[in-house]
Amino acid sequence: MIFIGGVGPRRKKLESHPRICSNCGLSQAYLVRTDNYLSLFFIPILRIRKGQPFVECERCGHVTDESGQVHAPGTDLLAISCHRCGEILEKHFRYCPHCGAEL
Ligand SMILES: [Zn+2]
Ligand SMILES: [Zn+2]
Repeated sequence: MIFIGGVGPRRKKLESHPRICSNCGLSQAYLVRTDNYLSLFFIPILRIRKGQPFVECERCGHVTDESGQVHAPGTDLLAISCHRCGEILEKHFRYCPHCGAEL
């Protein structure tokens, strides 16, 4: 017998109406949440971890929290985006680790 199972993230859209993206200005930002599911034969059967909701733009990928604050990916820290390369960085950074620009 072949058992194909595992845990994987699944993205869920929490709102059907888009919001205005603060980065590109288009109304293509949606409130989403990434939950972790236990799946069997590629079918999610059980939600094992509920993620924090966030707003993600489908067009440019810009991520903010519900109130529009930008967060560094995977952290609760407020973030800024690099004016040169656009990378999302933690707010306390003085230099961009991606392109070296002074922030
Ligand atoms: Zn955008
Ligand atoms: Zn940069």
